[in-house]
Amino acid sequence: MTAPFTLAPDLLWLDGRFQHGKAVRVDADGRIAAVVDDPAGGVRLPGRALLPGFVNAHSHAFQRLIRGRTQRRADGEGDTENFWSWREAMYSAALGLTPEDVFDVARWCFIEMMRTGITAVGEFHYLHHQADGRPYADPNELAHRVIAAAESVGLRIALLNVCYVTGGIGHDLGKDQRRFGAASPDAFLDRTRALREHVEASALATVGVAPHSIRAVPRDWLPELDGFAADHDLPLHIHVSEQPAEVDACVAEYGLRPVELLAEDGILGGRLTAIHATHLSDAEVEILGQSGASVCACPTTERDLGDGFLRGRDLLEAGVRVCLGTDSHTSLDFLEEMRLVEYNERLRRRARVVIAGEDGRGGLSVAPPLLEMATAAGARSLGLPAGDIAPGLHADLIAVDLEHPSLLGASADTLGAALTLSATPDVVRDVWVGGVPRLEDRRHPLEEEAAGAFARVATRL
Ligand SMILES: [Zn+2]
Repeated sequence: MTAPFTLAPDLLWLDGRFQHGKAVRVDADGRIAAVVDDPAGGVRLPGRALLPGFVNAHSHAFQRLIRGRTQRRADGEGDTENFWSWREAMYSAALGLTPEDVFDVARWCFIEMMRTGITAVGEFHYLHHQADGRPYADPNELAHRVIAAAESVGLRIALLNVCYVTGGIGHDLGKDQRRFGAASPDAFLDRTRALREHVEASALATVGVAPHSIRAVPRDWLPELDGFAADHDLPLHIHVSEQPAEVDACVAEYGLRPVELLAEDGILGGRLTAIHATHLSDAEVEILGQSGASVCACPTTERDLGDGFLRGRDLLEAGVRVCLGTDSHTSLDFLEEMRLVEYNERLRRRARVVIAGEDGRGGLSVAPPLLEMATAAGARSLGLPAGDIAPGLHADLIAVDLEHPSLLGASADTLGAALTLSATPDVVRDVWVGGVPRLEDRRHPLEEEAAGAFARVATRL
């Protein structure tokens, strides 16, 4: 099936609710042409509901390799395992990867993403060099491998090129961090320019700029990186306040909390996405809201690492656009990322239906804001014309199976909540990216080959 075509599902997610009798016309260029009523001659999708594909705004694909490997500790030593000990395990896995491995691990990770309805990913890419820190002959070798992996799967990718300089504020990179480093702002921006040229002709790939974090990038580099992003209209992503220790280090060094520092240096604004933003003061929530910046929560990773959880309701009320990421891929279930934003708030506030938006039926429901986080907010964060069903946007679409056991009995009115709070990820039956069918009846054509190659890397490392 090649575009142009018209997809006519039983239900279409439109204007924050599921509606009957609507169809989506897709142009030959892979963009949405129109939403039409009662189509004749369209491609019928019986027993299915159609939604915009999910946008995964924060991923480190290579970390898929360490799933299950960091879940034990020595006996009798108390609570010794935390984010920082996890990071050591992650570094040692990163050290062993060849360029071929990077492709194989990313390709499998991207297929797994697509199976949970993700059609675009923001890949926060910091694995740049050889294990001893020397650049490859082409310094963007590993970024090219990750982009090639996404293109082979048919996943849209914003390669967020990471600038990583210090092992902590004022500290040299550790031995295990040498694959990540940048020698100077110019050296980093030259690599980023070359990457932009590399993706110029790609239908699926774009580039963004990502200073890793305040602990890993000198403060006086930030304005130059931000300026480059502004000059080229690129998204700017940075890890912010995932752990109390990094907030404390920032305050000790600069006398400012991380969001305050970004505001003072003029970095906060509409192109910036603060990843995690878990440990925020009330003032930082307000500053973020006024700045137009986005926050990307990664709830399954934050849960796995014992980071804490998002001040979701406070951020939304302050006007912050919240998007979602699967980050370390400890699990790959984008519905779970959505529902944790709501469920964490329920546990915190001992209340129900905390994150809620207009549902078109005179009330407030959980599904509109959760699906907005998973789609339009992610697309905005990555600077992609996607994340909604509207003319001119990429036809990145997913069909969910209304006859799946976890959705049986759902109606137009209850499907949004059933999907976001109760469904398993395999409700996603079909996926289109840029109008091209990529997953059909839950099968990706590369699945067996990609799974085999991934398993070989996982067995060896
Ligand atoms: Zn991250």
